Amino acid sequence: MTDIRIGNGYDVHALAEGLPLWLGGVKIESGVGCVAHSDGDVAIHALCDAVLGALALGDIGEHFPDNSDEFKGIDSKILLHRVMGLAADRGYAVGNADITIAMQRPKLAPYITSMRETIADIMKVAVDRVSVKATTTEKLGFVGRGEGCEVFATVLMIK
Ligand code: MG
Repeated sequence: MTDIRIGNGYDVHALAEGLPLWLGGVKIESGVGCVAHSDGDVAIHALCDAVLGALALGDIGEHFPDNSDEFKGIDSKILLHRVMGLAADRGYAVGNADITIAMQRPKLAPYITSMRETIADIMKVAVDRVSVKATTTEKLGFVGRGEGCEVFATVLMIK
């Protein structure tokens, strides 16, 4: 019998000048980057939480504590690899993933395809099963003021 599970993930990081900006495993040209213990890839963090949520395996902070030296500056793609390993151990594969990144600037359109390809590769699915969407918040709230980046992720896991 097929077992289908849905998970959602949410993450926010503050933005600061002079830091590198990583989103969806891709380096983005930007004057600001995410303040973080890891590389600050807020999109991958939300996606990890969606996968963990689907399988009721807790959250990213539990698996990769932000006070651990092991994860200082870590490439978040490694975290997603590890989360996918936990899913595979339990016999689950990805059905599809849908990610929404809310950020006032820079424009993310030029990077969407390579984010989808990077994530699909790690999740071992075809690119047409990974959606990455970008939106602004019309200059409203902390995202609109450029103070932070907010990401929502949904994933379907199939066994
Ligand atoms: Mg995070």
